[in-house]
Amino acid sequence: MTAFDYDLLVIGAGSGGVRASRMAAQSGARVAVVEAGPLGGTCVNVGCVPKKLFVYGSHFPKAFEDAQGYGFTVSPPSFSWATLRDNKTREIERLNGVYGNLLSGAGVTILRGQARITGAQEVTVGDAVYRAERILIATGSTPSLPTIPGIEHAVTSFEMFYLDALPKRAVVVGGGYIAVEFASILHGLGVDTTLVYRGPLILRGFDADVRGFVMEELRKLGITLRLETDVQALSRDAQGTLTLTLHERSSEGEDEQARSGASTLTTDLVMYATGRHPLTAGLGLEAVGVALGEDGRVLVNEQFQSSVPSIYALGDVINRAQLTPVAIREAMAFSEQAFGTVAVPPVDYDLIPTAVFCQPNIGTVGPTEEVARQKHGPLAIYEATFRPMKHTLTGREERTFMKLIVRRSDDRVVAAHMVGPDAGELIQGLAVAIVAGATKAQFDATVGIHPTAAEEFVTMRTPTRLDPL
Ligand code: FAD
Ligand code: NDP
Repeated sequence: MTAFDYDLLVIGAGSGGVRASRMAAQSGARVAVVEAGPLGGTCVNVGCVPKKLFVYGSHFPKAFEDAQGYGFTVSPPSFSWATLRDNKTREIERLNGVYGNLLSGAGVTILRGQARITGAQEVTVGDAVYRAERILIATGSTPSLPTIPGIEHAVTSFEMFYLDALPKRAVVVGGGYIAVEFASILHGLGVDTTLVYRGPLILRGFDADVRGFVMEELRKLGITLRLETDVQALSRDAQGTLTLTLHERSSEGEDEQARSGASTLTTDLVMYATGRHPLTAGLGLEAVGVALGEDGRVLVNEQFQSSVPSIYALGDVINRAQLTPVAIREAMAFSEQAFGTVAVPPVDYDLIPTAVFCQPNIGTVGPTEEVARQKHGPLAIYEATFRPMKHTLTGREERTFMKLIVRRSDDRVVAAHMVGPDAGELIQGLAVAIVAGATKAQFDATVGIHPTAAEEFVTMRTPTRLDPL
């Protein structure tokens, strides 16, 4: 008889927690997972999945317009937000059931409620106290909002999935993944959309050429970009109209007096997407001595072990890369190390392919040109910009951008960046080649698939920039 109720008690049935629980249980361990909300976590309920369904929905108005160039006569389509929202919710509820079955099928006990860690090997859920040899914190992250007057009038991505009605006008604050994706969704569904960002170029961390290109495409679509602009306050009048008090900063080289200044913007909905911080509040971590970083992340070693040896953490709560496939890979690495499940290579945080599902999409793998130059020395840069063939008949001005970054010392392709339709789908395949160490000569030796946009990646022959060796 063991002194422990479980070999592993996981807190959070999201992307990371579900995978770690299932894998550990399948190896024979006695596992329980505690979940306070619906099964599947952020990605399934209020993240990747419902967001992608909204992205698909937001493409239809453009498709109806484009159909005319191909000979179709389309009477003005009508749109029901309630139908999209409720169909999405039904699909998410189906997935909640699938996750429940996956966990039960693997032999994982599902405990419902808010968990608190009350000892190095003890977790309390409501009135019940459980003892576990290992505890895994997989509690994810939650939106960070600045403390400005009237911030309570703003919504976050969470509320966007359940809006009673779509607004006529919306302002999205932020310039990262969520802001850019939701600005595209709202605009696509017919909302007059303004994106307010504090810096000169949205999507910090992405390649500078990609950032500039996407901004141009978003503007062409009709999204208003208010750059170098801070929101100082929000207010709501009796009719529900929201007013943002803005402060525009001066652009570099321009006269500060002439450029900077206050203005206001009225709208029907303000959505904040200003980052997400690790969700550790209320878990009782300080009391048991788990060391946290400044942003509240659980500090862990290569085995995902915290400063308390029986307590582990992974996924958004360790804040290395807030992406579902990363949480899943971390969970697989953890369960292999702790329970001897299937062998997986260590997570390579330097080569994480990622996509932003704005219109058009961004797909990227590997460093930006700037970082690649610091890391890999002299580079050859190959770029292509073109109008997708589909739009030769639609008349749409949308363009596609592709970029390969090659290390000159050994001809190895170190990064691929793309802005264009289905960029995420396309970059996933290239990521395999890049992770495997493919050279530019091997890209060139690969026969293209014609006519596709993807073939550009194997037909770019003349560098647009060549660093001296
Ligand atoms: P989560 O999936 O957030 O799971 C944490 C779980 O822990 C939650 O279910 C929560 O209820 C539970 N929990 C927390 N505290 C407790 C407690 N004390 N007791 C019990 N349960 C608790 N990533 C992508 O790769 N692609 C995308 O397209 C994408 N789109 C996104 C869109 C949006 C709008 C958002 C917000 C995120 C998106 N992400 C995307 C990020 C992705 O959702 C996260 O990286 C991923 O869900 C992290 O997994 P996790 O297991 O760490 O946490
Ligand atoms: P991001 O970190 O991507 O972006 C946050 C944005 O908010 C940045 O533009 C940042 O500006 C700005 N910001 C931060 N603080 C403030 C402030 N006080 N005032 C004004 N602006 C501010 O976070 P998101 O919330 O967009 O998304 C969270 C994470 O979720 C992403 O990083 C990503 O990992 C994941 N995600 C992934 C998706 C995907 O894979 N397709 C989709 C959606 C989310 P600055 O750059 O100047 O700091």
